[in-house]
Amino acid sequence: TKMESLSELDRKHYLHPTTPAKMHFEQGPSIIVSEGKGINIKDVKGDEYIDAMSMLWNVNLGHGQKELADAAQEQMMKLAYSSSFFGNSHETAIQLAEKLASLTPDDLNVVFYTSGGSESNDTAFKLSRYYWQIKGQPERTKIIGLERAYHGVTMGATSATGVREFQNFVNAKAPDFFHAKAHQTNCELGDKSDPNYEGCIRDIVEKEGPDTIAAVILEPVQGAGGVLFPPEGYMQAVRKLCDEFGILMITDEVITGFGRTGKMFGVNNWDVVPDMMTVAKGITSGYSQLGAVIMKEKIRDEIVKTDDVLFHGFTYSGHPTACAVALKNLEILERDNLVVNAKNMEKVLKDGMAFLEEKHSIVTKTRALGLLGAFELYEDPASGKPFDPSIAAAHKVVDECFKRKLILRTAEWDGDNIVAIAPALIVNKQEIENIISILDESITAFEMTL
Ligand code: PLP
Repeated sequence: TKMESLSELDRKHYLHPTTPAKMHFEQGPSIIVSEGKGINIKDVKGDEYIDAMSMLWNVNLGHGQKELADAAQEQMMKLAYSSSFFGNSHETAIQLAEKLASLTPDDLNVVFYTSGGSESNDTAFKLSRYYWQIKGQPERTKIIGLERAYHGVTMGATSATGVREFQNFVNAKAPDFFHAKAHQTNCELGDKSDPNYEGCIRDIVEKEGPDTIAAVILEPVQGAGGVLFPPEGYMQAVRKLCDEFGILMITDEVITGFGRTGKMFGVNNWDVVPDMMTVAKGITSGYSQLGAVIMKEKIRDEIVKTDDVLFHGFTYSGHPTACAVALKNLEILERDNLVVNAKNMEKVLKDGMAFLEEKHSIVTKTRALGLLGAFELYEDPASGKPFDPSIAAAHKVVDECFKRKLILRTAEWDGDNIVAIAPALIVNKQEIENIISILDESITAFEMTL
């Protein structure tokens, strides 16, 4: 069959990203996807699945948006490619930069383009250091991130990533990167009674010396780390801390940007304005590869003080097709009120998860902000007793969902059993209720195995 022959070729020639390589090599792909429409995807066997994760939290407009395909085709025919190196510029990159400036808060008005989230974060780190270099403080080189953060897989982004599995992989962490206790410990708020107080952002700043810190980076909501929300007041406290020591604040909006949390950007939920914001994923809804760093004018204003060349840029910085797709994507996002839809659907998602929590004794810690949601599995939530890791509870539940043709994702770091839900922003009430109903059956099936 087609599935068998493609599967064989896949095993032979295709090394997959972020996949248990040996298992994959032995078993081949679980499905081979060939089509998508809305929140559904179809595989080569013709089976249809509900994609409740927008694939990698990126296909925010859902599949099959003809307008995006048309925008890409039109741009390719008009101008396939132009660099913006050495003084060139081109139309779509300029138009998109203006659009992004208009969407972001305050004077986050200057854009540097990349091809994705990792590149955006590496760019933000380099620009932070460059900024301090020009300001005569070249010793400000250090970057502080949070435990459980995910910022990507290039060397810089890996170094900032707090999920230890990524950091430990080939021991890739570069010098000058630090990881503060994640915000669960609340320590930025001065909760010194917390036994984990040691090692919050402030402690690292004080230990290393404020004059050595270039920037702090954090996700407004940690995504791959397990859909972890900051406690009330945390984002503002980090902003204040950065201001206190003159440190640049970078927010990684790769998942939270462009409506995912029911606001245009994650930081809008807390009225915090970072000095730089990194974006990717939802900027094109995954229809094309694009990322960006959106920075405050003050950073550009420093950079343009020197006569030096800005020795940083990617061949595909500001790719015309990617920019044209992004412009159309943002137009549809606004025209169809999808950010508002994400906010409205938050309640449906929360109600659904509350139903699961009510019905299944192992379900707890349900949460959602817009269409970024999750719940957790505990053997006994009341006493806080987790499942034995050998049970792989979250994995099993997601496997049961997969058998029922529903795609979800787990976060199993540090013994947690977190199940994430992040459907496309076009999702409707009935589709969410359907997702919850399949989850209900799948959790029951898992409970039967206990
Ligand atoms: N930052 C966050 C918050 C992400 O979730 C991701 C990807 O999942 C990245 C950065 C890395 O982006 P990319 O995979 O486009 O390099």
